[in-house]
Amino acid sequence: MTERTFSIEFFPPKTPEGMAKLRETRRQLAQLHPKFFSVTFGAGGSTRDRTLETVLEIQAEGLQAAPHLSCVGSTRESLRDILNTYKEHGIRHIVALRGDLPSGMAEAGEFRYANELVSFIRQETGDWFEIEVAAYPETHPQARNYQEDLASFARKVRAGANAAITQYFFNVDAYFNFRDDCVALGIDVPIVPGIMPISNYSQLARFSAVCGAEIPRWLARKLESYYDDTDAIKAFGQDFVTGLCERLLQGGAPGLHFYTLNQAGLTTAIWQRLGIE
Ligand code: FAD
Repeated sequence: MTERTFSIEFFPPKTPEGMAKLRETRRQLAQLHPKFFSVTFGAGGSTRDRTLETVLEIQAEGLQAAPHLSCVGSTRESLRDILNTYKEHGIRHIVALRGDLPSGMAEAGEFRYANELVSFIRQETGDWFEIEVAAYPETHPQARNYQEDLASFARKVRAGANAAITQYFFNVDAYFNFRDDCVALGIDVPIVPGIMPISNYSQLARFSAVCGAEIPRWLARKLESYYDDTDAIKAFGQDFVTGLCERLLQGGAPGLHFYTLNQAGLTTAIWQRLGIE
């Protein structure tokens, strides 16, 4: 069996206080020895400098950093610049995405889909970068249907992606069904489940509505029933997400990627309960 990959995601903070807090979060999470820390990128380049700054700090701490890069609303020239900057700094791992333009921002840019970005990165930089792409076990919300979305995913892999990280989900069957369909298509890259720790129901419901992650009815009703008892939500959420991770790993998932929202507590607790080395 190939080695499993456990990784952690941050977003680049907007303020110096946020950066300081993320340093502390990182100090705690680094003790778990994740394979890499990834840092999101605002579509259209809105976080360009902050993503770079965060990635360089991570790298300077001796940890592996993987910047996200999205192509929507960007030009070839600006993407080439960013790739060259990462190359100059010795960054060798990247998460390549289409991104979503904020509403009101004109749909500009030279790339329409993530597979075009993956091809561009390979054309420009050869094998320099290990490239991750996004996968959607429950189907991307804008896809016309499941099969077309699967075909889009296959196109990104054939364009040169080495691995994938999924959107978060709470239905393990969705993941295993998607993985089996990928295997049937001859896609053999690791598809690592994205894991969202549960700490706040209204925020989770908002995110899930936008990104197309289903919160099963029983789970939504149960979380709602705690009202604003955040301790109860966190305790139950920790048990539930730990169980989800266990089932995924037992079923052969090639690792886990934690969406931390820049918080250390829940990810640390779940990671330790799983006994990840
Ligand atoms: P694509 O793979 O291009 O797919 C987008 C949609 O287009 C899908 O519905 C697909 O089926 C369809 N499609 C693809 N190719 C074609 C084609 N040739 N013809 C017709 N339809 C096609 N967003 C950010 O802005 N910044 C981030 O840092 C970020 N990080 C993320 C990390 C992960 C692990 C995940 C899962 C998502 C992340 N996102 C991020 C969100 C992501 O940008 C959005 O989900 C976006 O809507 C789709 O990006 P994609 O790379 O999956 O796009």
